[in-house]
Amino acid sequence: MNYLKILEEITLELKSYTTVGQVTNTIPELAKINPDKFGIHLTTIEGDDFGIGDSQERFSIQSVSKALTVALAFSFLGEKIWKRVGVEPSGTAFNSLIQLEYEKGIPRNPFINAGAIVIADMLVSCLENPKEDFLRFIRLISGNPNIDFNLSVAQSEKDTRFRNAALGNFLKSFGNIENDVDEVLDFYFHQCSIEMNCVELANAFFFFANEGKTRDGKSILTTSQVKRLNAIMQTCGFYDESGEFTYKVGLPGKSGIGGGIVALYPKNFVVATWSPKLNKKGNSELGMHALELLTTKTEMSIF
Ligand code: GLU
Repeated sequence: MNYLKILEEITLELKSYTTVGQVTNTIPELAKINPDKFGIHLTTIEGDDFGIGDSQERFSIQSVSKALTVALAFSFLGEKIWKRVGVEPSGTAFNSLIQLEYEKGIPRNPFINAGAIVIADMLVSCLENPKEDFLRFIRLISGNPNIDFNLSVAQSEKDTRFRNAALGNFLKSFGNIENDVDEVLDFYFHQCSIEMNCVELANAFFFFANEGKTRDGKSILTTSQVKRLNAIMQTCGFYDESGEFTYKVGLPGKSGIGGGIVALYPKNFVVATWSPKLNKKGNSELGMHALELLTTKTEMSIF
């Protein structure tokens, strides 16, 4: 498969695609990003790399980090994490409060904000130095010791935290947060502020495609655990657009409001895209289209 040629074709086709999306306005610091950035990087399971465009420029991974926090919590706590967070699609927006009331504080899945805040609480409980330890985990799985938080982005999200603070407090009122809400939110804002480029993201997610082992062979999760997390990415990774992503792309993946998407084909490849303009559901408009073109052209989807 000539992946580089396919990525070049995709980039060319995207140039004539008219976008209507907007850069996120929920975190002021992220509203400053150049909306016209576009990068894509694909890493095969054999270890070949193909990248194009702004694939080496770092951006805020935001909710893409939720797949990594749940992986770390799953590795520590196993199946019991599912007592506090579900595995069902929510059908609601990423930051919605509405289901929490009638489902008594158990978020539908770990990828909506409410679920990710519960996962953050689990990590605050079981890590000695939560922020440092999580960063160490990201550096380990990506094989890159330079990955870091963007403290201005974390602060900007903290300054405008009203909805996430509401979710955190609401969860606490149902007894589904063990720690101090502000401490949990501080961890959550830092995990979201991590900056990586498409190459680094493809490396970090390699273990999801490689039966739980990183690119350099470190064991992170079991084959069964990775199967389960990939299944949740497939059904819940794109909020209330998860069905649409599955229909169009046919791969498990996770998006973030920084404009990043990571998708993977187990035992075949990991691909990361970055384009900051988001559609109405908060997913990268061009990133989704690029991945639709990728699986159409390569005929490589899990379906
Ligand atoms: N930090 C963002 C928030 O909580 C993450 C949302 C996303 O990337 O979808 O609003």
